[in-house]
Amino acid sequence: MKSSNHVLGGLGTTIFTVMSALAQEHQAINLGQGFPDTDGPEDVRAAAARALMDGPNQYPPMMGLPALRQAVADHDRRFLGIDLDWTREVLVTSGATEALTAALLAFLEPGDEVVLFEPLYDSYLPIVRLAGAVPKLVRLAPPDAAHADWSIPAEALARAFSPLTKLVLLNTPLNPVGKVFTADEINAVVDLAAHYDAIILADEVYEHLVFDGRPHISPLQHPKGRGRTIRVGSAGKTFSLTGWKVGYLSGPAELIRLVAKAHQYLTFTTPPALQAGVALGLTKEDAYFSGIATELAAKRDRLALGLAALGFDVLPAGGTYFLAAGFRHLDAVSDDASFARRLTVEAGVAVVPVSAFYDGTDAPRDLVRFCFCKQDSVLDEALARLGRWTAALGQAPANLPRDA
Ligand code: PMP
Ligand code: GLN
Repeated sequence: MKSSNHVLGGLGTTIFTVMSALAQEHQAINLGQGFPDTDGPEDVRAAAARALMDGPNQYPPMMGLPALRQAVADHDRRFLGIDLDWTREVLVTSGATEALTAALLAFLEPGDEVVLFEPLYDSYLPIVRLAGAVPKLVRLAPPDAAHADWSIPAEALARAFSPLTKLVLLNTPLNPVGKVFTADEINAVVDLAAHYDAIILADEVYEHLVFDGRPHISPLQHPKGRGRTIRVGSAGKTFSLTGWKVGYLSGPAELIRLVAKAHQYLTFTTPPALQAGVALGLTKEDAYFSGIATELAAKRDRLALGLAALGFDVLPAGGTYFLAAGFRHLDAVSDDASFARRLTVEAGVAVVPVSAFYDGTDAPRDLVRFCFCKQDSVLDEALARLGRWTAALGQAPANLPRDA
């Protein structure tokens, strides 16, 4: 048989699928893969259901339903103060995954360099490499007791850029650790991108899931970012409808026109009924958007407090569905992948190892990611299971951590 594409041939199954399968096999509570366990707003689902029954159910316009493109433009004006021409500066895609892939394929050529930040979402590097481009990874400052903020190291950032930099991909708020980039950090990225004339691809799927009064800042808001940033959003996250796979991009017309060239050959378009539902969702009152963040922040606190009481070193999470936690007080030997497996199989709670979000073999191996967008009763049951498991550890000397 002929060989596969060398990039894809070298890859395994995504960590989300692997951990969800393991969770199912062991009837574990799945705090691994990031998805809510309640469905999104009823009016959004009802609008999609009506559109499905009333039709038309034929190909919608390649750029997206006008109603949804207008709603995205109005949304970006309302929340970010950005004025967009919905006819040319917004594109609808089948999820943020397609939006990111289309944007990378639209611009990258073999030998181009792409600046990315580790830890990073799992779909970025395969697509960069499929395009033949060269990733330049900037590792965010790993947390320690004094400095748990995943900040961008300024010197490493400057070193990552070069005249070959075609694009920089920034995810804020950041999966898997919940970091929300500050205005200073965004400014530094925009300044360098402007200096090297690079495109900024901003993965902002968690834009509304930001906690504790922090602002979500997009490089598209920056005067020097407006002409070179493509912003990516996802109805999956904003409306707790991850299975719908409706995404949207906004940015300057010339860049969006080029991304549309890739989109027209990837999926061409996205189910119209789902687009109609999301169009209604994006016009919801401000209270909906602030409400989802408040509700989720309370879940973060519920899980964080419970984990800390059990001996996990919980790192601060300012946004997203996720928090990262160290486990060295519970297991001094296992790496994160083995520990995630132990938790799933022995405690009945599935999590994701944070090293899955790194490229090389020298990733931090002492952190796991917990997803907290679950019903309170589910979080409580997960904590109860973990409590029983840690208590049993204490009674079994052979399992005690070495430094305990
Ligand atoms: N980017 C990040 C950072 C994500 O966590 C996800 C998760 N699903 C995506 C993109 C993909 O979003 P979608 O499901 O809309 O394709
Ligand atoms: N974004 C989700 C996560 O980080 C998973 C998406 C997927 O399963 N591909 O858990």
